[in-house]
Amino acid sequence: MIETQLEYLQNDLNEVLTAFNLSDDVKVKHLLTKTENKLVNTIVINGKSYAYGNLIHDFGDEIVEKRLIKRFAKISLYKALSLNLNVSLPWGSLTGIRPTKLAYSLLEENGEFYDYFINTFKVSEEKTELTAKIIETQKGIYEKNPDNTDFFIFVPFCPSRCNYCSFISQDIKSAKMHIDEYIDALIKEINASSFLIRKLRSIYIGGGTPVALSDRQLEKILNAVDKINTGVEYTVEAGRPDRITKENLKILKDHNVTRICINPQSFNDKTLKAIGRFHTANDVIEKYEMAKNDFIVNMDLIAGLNNETFDDFAYSINKAIELDPDNVTIHTLSIKKGSYLAETTSRLSDNDVIKMVDYAHKRLTESGYNPYYLYRQKYMAGNLENTGYSKPDKECVYNVDVMEEISQNIANGSCAISKAVSDDFSRIERVASPKDVPTYLAKLDKIIIDKNNLFKNNR
Ligand code: SF4
Repeated sequence: MIETQLEYLQNDLNEVLTAFNLSDDVKVKHLLTKTENKLVNTIVINGKSYAYGNLIHDFGDEIVEKRLIKRFAKISLYKALSLNLNVSLPWGSLTGIRPTKLAYSLLEENGEFYDYFINTFKVSEEKTELTAKIIETQKGIYEKNPDNTDFFIFVPFCPSRCNYCSFISQDIKSAKMHIDEYIDALIKEINASSFLIRKLRSIYIGGGTPVALSDRQLEKILNAVDKINTGVEYTVEAGRPDRITKENLKILKDHNVTRICINPQSFNDKTLKAIGRFHTANDVIEKYEMAKNDFIVNMDLIAGLNNETFDDFAYSINKAIELDPDNVTIHTLSIKKGSYLAETTSRLSDNDVIKMVDYAHKRLTESGYNPYYLYRQKYMAGNLENTGYSKPDKECVYNVDVMEEISQNIANGSCAISKAVSDDFSRIERVASPKDVPTYLAKLDKIIIDKNNLFKNNR
């Protein structure tokens, strides 16, 4: 942990430290001094000092001042660590911010973001290009309108627990006793939320694994959604091929679902077994063939899984490209320090994962896919990103809206976070539901009231 005299900088500076994956014996201190026209950030790494000055102009107000102080401090810390360790990170000093969102705001303010990304934030040329390409692909989809509404429903149950999972999802067998009660609560919440929709853009049922539910349970939720659906993009994160059947695909089709995810994660059976998924690569292919004519299909793959080699990962990429789904999303494994995986698996080197992600980008883009959204999480291998690729005109509107925070999001279910944007997009207010199912069930009435207030008061 970094030592700084400014408590409000602590978390942000620690994020930069985490990105460098430092061992505990590296001691880092930060000191900010202000002169009449200069801010000086001094970083001390194991006794060695680095100082960086920034000329001060009139900050305007306190919020802007704090934001710029934070920005300069993070950049200074990044530069000092980069110099001291002789390491550059692909996203430079950017942590805790969505790169495309920052690029859009720089474009609005200055008409360009390239120079800021490369020279100020020290983002690599490759990642700056990736951001530019995503902004280009989003043309025609990106629509900043506070009336636009995306409607999310969370199903927190899975057929088994994958060992890398960082989502809040329960094994369906152990959750059996409260599934029906959860579905009834969800339907009550969906009905109560329907009045908050302004201009519906998309519906997304995510998980967990929504198709882990029985056909009867799944259909109950879809019947409730039918009442709000005006024929918009409608995604169900089917996810696990071991739960996709001819019957549940027909149910999804009959309820006007337009997109599904069938997630291989890897096309190597030994990896699937090692990560706790009860299906094979052939199951993915079989279910994909069953679904591909009726839905736009996304496939998720993960770089850095369970010590896969570069060749293992390249095999999965090439297999996905051969199958030709409409979307492929490349995730980079994110392992929290102290988690089960962090304790039991020796991580691949960052360079190995960087090579995998670069290969995926090269193969997908030369095969007709364009990157169209990205996001980053803490503890990602190689300090990289997750990127969604799409064939032209098959992009998922929901993903763009959510990543760029340009619409209101009405989220239903446990662990769901509703977001309301103000008319001028200067504020985003949130209401989060409890993460565990029993607390969600107990607090449902209060959640409904809080959500109503959120969307009514935020105009
Ligand atoms: S299918 Fe997804 S949500 Fe479910 S346990 Fe695996 S990673 Fe987690």
